[in-house]
Amino acid sequence: MHCVGTAVLAAKATDLQKEKYLVPIAQGKHTTSLALSEAGTGGHFYISATTLAEEGESFIVDGEKQFITNGGHADSYVISTVAQDVATGSQSGDFSCLVLDADTPGLEWQQAWAGFGMRGNSSRGLLIHKARVPRGNLLGNKGDQVWYVFEVIAPFFLMAMAGTYLGIAQSAVEATGMHLRSRKYSHTGDALGEIDALQSRYAAMWIALEKSRGLVREAASRGDAAHPEALPFILACKADAAETAVHLANEAMSLCGGIAYRENSRLAQMLRDARAGHVMAPTTDLLKLWLGRALLGVPLL
Ligand SMILES: Cc1cc2nc3c(=O)[nH]c(=O)nc-3n(C[C@H](O)[C@H](O)[C@H](O)COP(=O)(O)OP(=O)(O)OC[C@H]3O[C@@H](n4cnc5c(N)ncnc54)[C@H](O)[C@@H]3O)c2cc1C
Repeated sequence: MHCVGTAVLAAKATDLQKEKYLVPIAQGKHTTSLALSEAGTGGHFYISATTLAEEGESFIVDGEKQFITNGGHADSYVISTVAQDVATGSQSGDFSCLVLDADTPGLEWQQAWAGFGMRGNSSRGLLIHKARVPRGNLLGNKGDQVWYVFEVIAPFFLMAMAGTYLGIAQSAVEATGMHLRSRKYSHTGDALGEIDALQSRYAAMWIALEKSRGLVREAASRGDAAHPEALPFILACKADAAETAVHLANEAMSLCGGIAYRENSRLAQMLRDARAGHVMAPTTDLLKLWLGRALLGVPLL
């Protein structure tokens, strides 16, 4: 979230934003995060109800965010908002991103979140009560948010997430291989890895892993080359990596037997962490929906 938030900041950074955020980030002195999700719109993270109203030299931001990674620990948050007409209170539909400093008055953090997995991730809710933000904190131009979501957030985030879940899948295969080689039966002297059925299941795990790796690499190389058909690969690779990670962590739990089914075993941790892949936006469901639309030439949204 720090890296993707930084990519958003960097995409159209003003000189002031470079000096205030990008230089300290590059020096390792500033951590940022992404705060897009809201309870009202959930996985449809590109739609915000958090309002942005102009008042003199400032914006007044009012709303609520959920599941902010590093919530309460980062130095700033890249947030999404929708413009509001102060006189009428109506929303214009103009979505914008801006950076919110952690020490801005009016921020109220919700209680610490106890995740099923990803336990190093402090994902907290935030209430934003009429926070005053300098106009210089607007990222890009007003109404640019959808550009950020699809041109910056989606490609960086999807590739980073695909790599993360591919890593979990690989760890599950490696842990299974180690167990199959080392666990021996006393009554036969054979290792589990000498049993035909388990050799086949292990082979199927490896095939699934390498298929996913191939898709991730193809997506990354098309993205790097700005290939005109990079998008379907980038959408597909995160959905596929999440499915492969859950499937292989699950398979590993079976092949490694009872010892893996221990509270907080390494494989239990992998299975819990892998499960986050499906629900972290863009969710697997939405990615497949967008992929189908992209392939059929139908608008994504
Ligand atoms: C560990 C973790 C860290 C996170 N970190 C951040 C962060 O740093 N910043 C941030 O902004 N957000 C973050 N999030 C939030 C995340 O990105 C999602 O926005 C959020 O988890 C999904 O919202 P929801 O739970 O309300 O799901 P819902 O929107 O309620 O969706 C529930 C299910 O319905 C499915 N669904 C919804 N609509 C459709 C449809 N049209 N077709 C098919 N299926 C559909 C979804 O795919 C999902 O599986 C994090 C979440 C987690 C779990």
